[in-house]
Amino acid sequence: MMSVAEAQAQILAQVPRLGTESVDLLSALGRVLAKPVVARDDLPPFDNTSMDGYAVIAADTQAAPVTLHVVGTVPAGRMAPFRIERGQTAKIMTGAPLPPGADAVVQVEWTRPAEAGRVVIERPVEPGHNLRHRGEDVRAGQVVLDAGERITPGVVGILAAVGATAVEVWRRPRVAILATGDELVAIDQPLRPGTIRNSNSYALAAAVEAAGGDPILLPPAPDELGAIEAALVRALDVEQADVVISSGGVSVGDFDLVKAALERHGELDFWRVHMKPGKPMVFGHLGRRPFLGLPGNPVSALVTFELFVRPLLREMQGDRDWQRPVVALPLAEPFSEVSDRPHYVRVRIAPNGAGELSAWPNPAQGSNIQTSWHRARGLMVVPENSGPWAPGDRLPVILLD
Ligand code: AMP
Ligand code: MG
Repeated sequence: MMSVAEAQAQILAQVPRLGTESVDLLSALGRVLAKPVVARDDLPPFDNTSMDGYAVIAADTQAAPVTLHVVGTVPAGRMAPFRIERGQTAKIMTGAPLPPGADAVVQVEWTRPAEAGRVVIERPVEPGHNLRHRGEDVRAGQVVLDAGERITPGVVGILAAVGATAVEVWRRPRVAILATGDELVAIDQPLRPGTIRNSNSYALAAAVEAAGGDPILLPPAPDELGAIEAALVRALDVEQADVVISSGGVSVGDFDLVKAALERHGELDFWRVHMKPGKPMVFGHLGRRPFLGLPGNPVSALVTFELFVRPLLREMQGDRDWQRPVVALPLAEPFSEVSDRPHYVRVRIAPNGAGELSAWPNPAQGSNIQTSWHRARGLMVVPENSGPWAPGDRLPVILLD
């Protein structure tokens, strides 16, 4: 059976490329830049002060304390209409342009007012003191952001600072979501005996959105080959999906028909991954569109989404930096379950009594236990045939959002 790493590598070996589109800067958060961004201007655009204080000629302050003549005030947003000569100074506010002639700023805390429009400078400063230089952050003509960069709030700030009102980003992948199972009822319907609510469609739609995709909820299909086939055709022809994911129907039960439907309309690349939960995962292609058949158990569906669908969706959007951080965290509590497959355990992450960041496995880890995600911020990877593990033992944890 394939390992998680092999399965991931195979899924990412052929990532379909999407087109690009231009989006308004205010709608760009989370998207990925499709083109490099070049700065039009220097940033900062002029030499300016980082402190409220007095603009001086540094040489005048060497014999501090010294008294200088105050010739004016420079607020932020205005150019000084005067020049600083020897023996002179001007009051200046943070962000204001340095007046010509001056080469340093003495913060107001190192000064004291004196009679007749003068000020006492109490400490000497060197040229450049408290100055922010033109172009020290970004130079005009410089590539300030590369293609493939994910747009975070900080990146939005850079884009705004260089005057980009709209940006070219990769299109969001359209992801069709097909829940399968005779037992499923719509979430607004009463439960009849033997039925459960179709929660996977919603959890997966949320996961698609969190990964930057556009979810399309298909009507759930019963466990009938014809119905599943019709849904696949609809996903491609009507909904124009870039990726199709399904839940349920991939195990070895009598009514697990997703694989058969895939084989009739496309190709099966692999079935089953050496992991817990999520072993019966299916990967294949419908034409050139990737198809991922996730298991029906809600936890298995989300764990396999995290490990296989999210990376695919991020790569389709041009993101080169989608890997989650993995850190070795000490267990806060014993974990004694030994599994014959690598086990992805939902953990809460919080400081222990000694203030050390630790992993707290949620008490119930069954693949049907939806509340095992409650407050979980990480997936702890417990190696196969290992354990029991004691408090303080360190295991790798994939940090989720
Ligand atoms: P399956 O993979 O079809 O054997 O389903 C495994 C388990 O997941 C069964 O207990 C199903 O009832 C449950 N399940 C399947 N699909 C869904 C769904 N859309 N929402 C919630 N649970 C589901
Ligand atoms: Mg089923």
